[in-house]
Amino acid sequence: MRTNRDQQSLSYPFRLPDEVQADALRLLDVSREVINAVITSLWDRLDDFGKRTNKYAYKQVQEMTSSPQPHGDRQWRCEAEQAGRILRGQADRKKQFALILPILSQGMLRPKTETKRAGKNRKAIKEALADLREENTDGGSAVELQSLIEQACNYYLTYGCFPDRYEDMQAVPIQQVAVLPYAGDDGGAMGQSYRMSLDLEHKEITFAFRTPDATGKWMRNWRKKTIKMVLPELVLARVKQGQVLAPSLREIKQPDGVRSAVLDFIVEVPITKATEWPSMRHVLGFDWGVRTLVTASVVDLEGHQVGRPFFLDTGPFDGRQARTRRQTDLLKAKVAKLEARRDCFSTGDPRREPALLQLAVLRREIARCWRKYEARNKDLAHLAANVLLLLATASGCELIAGESLKSMKSTGRGKDARGKWRNWRNNSQIRGELWRTLRYKCHLAGIRLEWQQPRKTSHTCPHCGTPADTYRSPAHLDKVNDWGAWLVCSNPACQWNGSRDYAASLNIARLGATFIRHAQTTRRIYHPSIAEAAVKAVSYMGAVAVLRLPPPVPRDRLLDAGRIYCNGWRKSVSLRSSYPTETLLRLSG
Ligand SMILES: [Zn+2]
Repeated sequence: MRTNRDQQSLSYPFRLPDEVQADALRLLDVSREVINAVITSLWDRLDDFGKRTNKYAYKQVQEMTSSPQPHGDRQWRCEAEQAGRILRGQADRKKQFALILPILSQGMLRPKTETKRAGKNRKAIKEALADLREENTDGGSAVELQSLIEQACNYYLTYGCFPDRYEDMQAVPIQQVAVLPYAGDDGGAMGQSYRMSLDLEHKEITFAFRTPDATGKWMRNWRKKTIKMVLPELVLARVKQGQVLAPSLREIKQPDGVRSAVLDFIVEVPITKATEWPSMRHVLGFDWGVRTLVTASVVDLEGHQVGRPFFLDTGPFDGRQARTRRQTDLLKAKVAKLEARRDCFSTGDPRREPALLQLAVLRREIARCWRKYEARNKDLAHLAANVLLLLATASGCELIAGESLKSMKSTGRGKDARGKWRNWRNNSQIRGELWRTLRYKCHLAGIRLEWQQPRKTSHTCPHCGTPADTYRSPAHLDKVNDWGAWLVCSNPACQWNGSRDYAASLNIARLGATFIRHAQTTRRIYHPSIAEAAVKAVSYMGAVAVLRLPPPVPRDRLLDAGRIYCNGWRKSVSLRSSYPTETLLRLSG
């Protein structure tokens, strides 16, 4: 999602109808070939793309080269646009590489021992990242910086030294999956490679596009071959708010090799202006929990808790993810067995064949499981973002406070499948997804989103502010457990006790309230830590409301081989809650 000061572009994928799928895929194949040739030929001029000579990426590319396979001027512009976008993205990544280059050290690698292969020392990497402080960022780029460090470590493991230049470790980024943005063409009414019109009354998109035919010849009568797609309410509402931009054509590849083409329908909408600091009154704090997915609480600037906390419990979803995880483990064990059987015979021996065939099937199956698993997680991050935004809106919060992604917390518990999933859920990737989604949705809704220092937020009493211990449960108060789900305040005058995630969400909300008060009095941005006396303790603790995610069955329909299309499902989810009475929450993206 692209953002600028007052506009935001949103993208909605539509699966193209079956009758044009073959045409679309043929077009994407031809385009990809051109795009990849351009990227390859301009790769040694990557630094040039670090500067924007023009708003449009295609113009920058056209200043440097011409089409290796001319088949229409506007078609070439669209191809050049995509090549330019990829090169610009890589040039930005190269700038980030310059940030991590000075901190690369051998301590980030674990030497080979008798029992273990050489590998990466993730703890050292995380520490180096935490030291790499960037002022006033939400830590969102920490995920990208970490991936760059890991890439550099992989290079070290192969070549025995760190790369000197970004290009040493980054292969030419040719496109595996084709994308063709129509932004280089002259628009829906005048376009020479596509035409698109909207009928808002009948809620319909009419689309036509220029493609090569089965013999490779570019069709002349393409404007007459129109297709129609239904415009869902949700997208229609955005269209009425904003401006429709040129769409993109994109290929989707399933693990079993089946390909399909989607049209990314793009709308630019105005964002709501965020409330000015002086008129801010309420904060929603949320914690990405150990036991519950998300816990959220609302406080006012005086530190009074407003209403009851919200617990977003994933219930059956955890179980389903755990099952997929177990299935992957079983398949992996089978693969190991088959590999051993295959290796009983030397290369070229026909007795290897049965094992080889079966291995191919199993590997495809493993890939399919991972895709499903990751798609569900991504889906979950989006749902959690929607819920948080809805809660913030419903309780009149002008700011959402969440812990900084820099903490990269992992729970270090649970060797079983469910525990593994919870660890994965907690990792930077899925939390990064939640943060990114939340950031653009908040931006759109005019709500501020600010990261907070996570240190000690789950080991501090939210009532009196003294450091507190955690325990496995209220029934296990004889033994302190750092990862325990239950927090008990040891201050004899207070003795507050409750869920650790709940306490953390309140503490994070308090940090948010302190953040606002600081901004109001000093007009400066400052992220306090929970130990600082300026943070006011919460004075009222309400009862508890539990929000459960909907049962798994309807969620299945949201996914078609791990992909979500606007014309394939109803983009709304109903949530039942006991808050404040029996409320039906309707969520939409
Ligand atoms: Zn206390």
